[in-house]
Amino acid sequence: MSSPDIQSAIRDILSEIPEGVNLVAVSKFHHSDMVLEAYRAGQRRFGESRVQEFLAKREVLPDDIEWHFIGHLQTNKVRSIIGKTSLIESVDSIRLLDLIDAESAKAGVVTNVLLQVHVAMEETKFGFDAEEIAQYFASRGFERLTNTHICGIMGMASNTDDMQRVASDFQRISDIYCSIRDDASLGLRGFDVLSMGMSGDWPIAVEQGANLIRIGSAIFGPRQY
Ligand SMILES: *Cc1c(COP(=O)(O)O)cnc(C)c1O
Repeated sequence: MSSPDIQSAIRDILSEIPEGVNLVAVSKFHHSDMVLEAYRAGQRRFGESRVQEFLAKREVLPDDIEWHFIGHLQTNKVRSIIGKTSLIESVDSIRLLDLIDAESAKAGVVTNVLLQVHVAMEETKFGFDAEEIAQYFASRGFERLTNTHICGIMGMASNTDDMQRVASDFQRISDIYCSIRDDASLGLRGFDVLSMGMSGDWPIAVEQGANLIRIGSAIFGPRQY
């Protein structure tokens, strides 16, 4: 998209989302010049899914950008991004969570994360299933964390035209989020982020309670892989 298109796409989305819902502009596969166009429209929260690409963009772009990491994070790449993200949205295993915690402790920082849940019909998608998440909180696994703050849940709906399935996927993710948030016995603080919804389905996600949406192609146009 040309720069006026990027800026008007952002303004359009911002005018449509209710108050309290935040926008992550997903800039993966798009040149940093395009990120800068979005930045000039006032956007400060960007999402990247590949470590090398994220680090390269971060080098050349303004310091006040809040970077969300949204892709599958390999354990051998964790160290390179610690201290550089405002939120890692895609924590998909306890092993990864514990490693993020250990590396954050070494670096002397606190890392904000979301746990990614998997409800979609595609089998290849990463993430915890509902039982694993429930088990993790029931066994109070989070109490072991010293340098990681679990801020909430991230999830994706099935990649389908069946909007009823999409809505029910979002509802399941939302139910998982609410059951943890509303469980007073867990004593969680600052567990208040529900990240779901992309270009093709974000209005449905917002209806189901999302307060963080991740939008790429509707802002930047199609990606060239
Ligand atoms: C790529 C990606 C998005 C954005 O997808 P669009 O359909 O381009 O809006 C959102 N979330 C995740 C996890 C992604 O990988």
